[in-house]
Amino acid sequence: MKYDYLVVGAGLFGAVFARYMAENGKDVLVIDKRDNIAGNIYTEEKMGINVHKYGAHIFHTSDKEVWEYVNRFAEFNNYINSPVAVYKDELYNLPFNMNTFSKMWNIKTPAEAKAIIDKQTQEEKKKINEKKGTDTFTADNLEEQALSLAGRDIYEKLVKGYTEKQWGRDCTELPAFIIKRLPMRFIYDNNYFNDRFQGIPMGGYTKMVEKILLLVGDETVSGSITVKTGVDYYDFVKLEGNVPAEPFESVNGDSFGKILFTGMIDEFFGYKLGTLEYRSLRFETEDLPDVDNYQGNAVVNYTEREIPYTRIIEHKHFEYGQGKGTIITREYPADWKHGDEPYYPMNDDKNNELYMKYTELAKEFPNILFGGRLGQYKYYNMDQVVRAALDMCASLKD
Ligand SMILES: Cc1cc2nc3c(=O)[nH]c(=O)nc-3n(C[C@H](O)[C@H](O)[C@H](O)COP(=O)(O)OP(=O)(O)OC[C@H]3O[C@@H](n4cnc5c(N)ncnc54)[C@H](O)[C@@H]3O)c2cc1C
Repeated sequence: MKYDYLVVGAGLFGAVFARYMAENGKDVLVIDKRDNIAGNIYTEEKMGINVHKYGAHIFHTSDKEVWEYVNRFAEFNNYINSPVAVYKDELYNLPFNMNTFSKMWNIKTPAEAKAIIDKQTQEEKKKINEKKGTDTFTADNLEEQALSLAGRDIYEKLVKGYTEKQWGRDCTELPAFIIKRLPMRFIYDNNYFNDRFQGIPMGGYTKMVEKILLLVGDETVSGSITVKTGVDYYDFVKLEGNVPAEPFESVNGDSFGKILFTGMIDEFFGYKLGTLEYRSLRFETEDLPDVDNYQGNAVVNYTEREIPYTRIIEHKHFEYGQGKGTIITREYPADWKHGDEPYYPMNDDKNNELYMKYTELAKEFPNILFGGRLGQYKYYNMDQVVRAALDMCASLKD
């Protein structure tokens, strides 16, 4: 068949893009190498619980248009992300707010909390300056930066171990710029995000993406979307060297006017300019049919370094599940190597420069677009993905 677009990747970016095009009269083929749609926001129903298979996902945005867009495809519940942090036998609310400070120092007022933080940050800066023999404070590593922003108690109990696990390195070996700010709230408010809109699609993200891709319901649009999972672009599209031969065709005789690629941009070009780096994650999921409520919260962070995972997710709490049994996932940060899931782009100078070189190369292929967190090598939240996909579509002439 003759398609206007081949969309590589049935994640959120690919789905929003395909939908826009179909609504504008285009015929789109979407392929994904995984056996399921929805990319990393895929949720799988087990024991009546929607399990966030590739990590916990909470939708939050201040972009009203994006919020209205996703609400066309799902009803969102009123979930507010309020994680809890466990440090040894102590338990703290996140983000850092008056509940955290009150528990840590047995105080009540914002003035008391500010005074303690001020005193501790001044002391730490003084100590660091004395050690370096200078009067002007500059943070030479993440530890110094965090101590200067939050003081010793918050750093030791809530920042140090968690950050070291995330990056697989000591805070003294990590660059200061990783933590630009440590947001603190001097009110009693455990809402992790500052955004105006927040929630979880009732019934899971997969159902929402099914609707975007016109796989359920009886909506009609002027174009069409065909979805094929378990299809890898590299086996599917006729290539000339590393890039698709023009006119674009698949091995089974389909043809495409243009391609949207939401996989890894460096892989697309056969890594010819070098390899972009990522951080990865390993998930260990456990079904607990005899436990109804394991930890009393969807997200519990473990902030000591000695515990190898960074957090435990209890999926049923995202949708206020009341049924029997529960499912938990321990999340372990991991180094990334070829073949692992690339979760977080490492947007440091070195990798950003390499990515810019790939974007220059991509300009030689005006009929191929690159989108999403892998195609654009950018840590995007879901709302930013929707925004970026809609903006890309709107910017296209035809
Ligand atoms: C652990 C974790 C937690 C997160 N939590 C949140 C959160 O709470 N809130 C939030 O807003 N955002 C969150 N995000 C970000 C969110 O996951 C992304 O914004 C979103 O999933 C990106 O969508 P995408 O379509 O760009 O990429 P993806 O979802 O990765 O989709 C890309 C798709 O392309 C496919 N693909 C790649 N190569 C090929 C190929 N060669 N052939 C065929 N198919 C291919 C992949 O299989 C994949 O399905 C989180 C991210 C992670 C890693």
